Amino acid sequence: MKIGIFGGTFNPPHIGHLQSAKTAAKQLGLDRLLIVPAGAPPHKPLPEGTPSADVRLSLVHATFDDVRGAAVSDIEIKDSKFKYTVDTVKAIKKEYNGARMFLLVGADMFLSLGTWKDSESLLKSVTPAVFSRNADDNRNISVYSDELQELFGTRTEIIENDVLDISSSQLRRLLPQREGVRYITDTTYSYIIKGRLYGAKPDWAWLRGKAYAMLDPKRVPHVAGCESEAVKLAERWGADVDDAREAGILHDITKKLDTAEHIGILAQNGIYIKNLQNSEEKLLHPKSGAALARTVFGVSDEVSNAIMWHTTGRRGMSLLEKVIYLADYIEPERDIPGIDELRKEAYADIDKAMIMGMEMSVDDMRSRGIIPNTTTFDALDDLRERTAPGAIIRESR
Ligand code: ATP
Repeated sequence: MKIGIFGGTFNPPHIGHLQSAKTAAKQLGLDRLLIVPAGAPPHKPLPEGTPSADVRLSLVHATFDDVRGAAVSDIEIKDSKFKYTVDTVKAIKKEYNGARMFLLVGADMFLSLGTWKDSESLLKSVTPAVFSRNADDNRNISVYSDELQELFGTRTEIIENDVLDISSSQLRRLLPQREGVRYITDTTYSYIIKGRLYGAKPDWAWLRGKAYAMLDPKRVPHVAGCESEAVKLAERWGADVDDAREAGILHDITKKLDTAEHIGILAQNGIYIKNLQNSEEKLLHPKSGAALARTVFGVSDEVSNAIMWHTTGRRGMSLLEKVIYLADYIEPERDIPGIDELRKEAYADIDKAMIMGMEMSVDDMRSRGIIPNTTTFDALDDLRERTAPGAIIRESR
């Protein structure tokens, strides 16, 4: 049996790790590829903001679980004490008695192999299999493999991999800038965004892709319109533009679900709906959407609230909540009587526009025999009090 051992901090794991390990497994004809995330290596202290060992292990699973013949080993990461590769290899050898062992390493690691703990014993029990990380690694690899052969009689396997010039440290810098998505598998990126690990903020195209896939295709132009309108309104009124964009993209993600599905999502989030009236069914999607935006896309409370109140409004709305309420109403795809006047007001006086929009929505519901939700009347009372002549304007949250 041929076993490949591929260790690293994988903080986070990326496509450079994945591709080179897959290429090595193929070239060496491995029966088993063991991915071994490290605990806390003494030579490479884990940087601030590194997720817990459990989360790092889950990220490695997310990246490698679909690879045929691969298995993730927690032999190092489960232990708070640092494990040396020589000991890990010994333990794995015991498990796979008689197997031939390969140690998969990138060029940077390979070039330091001679300095690893008990390197002689290590290099007698495994065959290093090295892949390049940069286009100019080849020469150094070949010189060093000759040295290892001379010193320890070790023959190195040189893997012919496509170089992908990316590292975990680069990714930790890219993720908070909404970049780096192309270097990470989709499952792993989704996991990172869900927990906003490494201070990651979602890549906009990725987020749109995910949100639109949850919609009835007919609704996509509305959501795209809501996003662009939300950004314009946020710029006009000084709300956080990124939050506005995020809430605009995600505000309708559960719109196509049925009542049972909304209730299921809410129950998973500890919200139990009792005695649901018919008229309230339409009001479930902002609640389930806000819950899903938090649990699947890791949005902040501000963004989640903007999604939650985008249909009814509420007393004491924040600026972002007003922006999303109005953007949903006046986005360019909407064509309803009186909308142009509302569009103008939205950029002239946001509170007056909110009152105008809510009154239009109440009239519309009444004309269709729907009883408006009391939260909307609370929101209207609140906005009227705030805009009354001589009113002392309290700061919205
Ligand atoms: P950091 O930037 O935090 O140092 P890293 O990207 O080098 O991290 P590690 O977890 O330290 O990732 O690497 C694990 C193993 O994968 C090492 O043997 C390393 O050389 C190799 N490796 C890392 N990135 C690549 C890449 N882009 N292509 C090929 N091999 C890689």
